[in-house]
Amino acid sequence: MGKKYSDCFYCGGVVEERLCPREFRRRGQLFIFENVPMGVCAQCGEKILKPEVAKSLDRIIREHKKPARTIEVPVYSYELEIA
Ligand SMILES: [Zn+2]
Repeated sequence: MGKKYSDCFYCGGVVEERLCPREFRRRGQLFIFENVPMGVCAQCGEKILKPEVAKSLDRIIREHKKPARTIEVPVYSYELEIA
């Protein structure tokens, strides 16, 4: 098995591939992808998304593919929260 990711850019730690959720914004709309393969630094937790993976996420949105499910996302204004 070849090494998929180079060592962490920030701390030099080992980067392992994991499936993580990823948020993506396009024209003000929020999309959430689950089980996205990305590199995660075992030391500092930095996440690295490969350009080809980022491109395929972008393509899924552009082609208006049917999502697995749709969720409501609560939005808070910080000023209101501390009032
Ligand atoms: Zn790191």
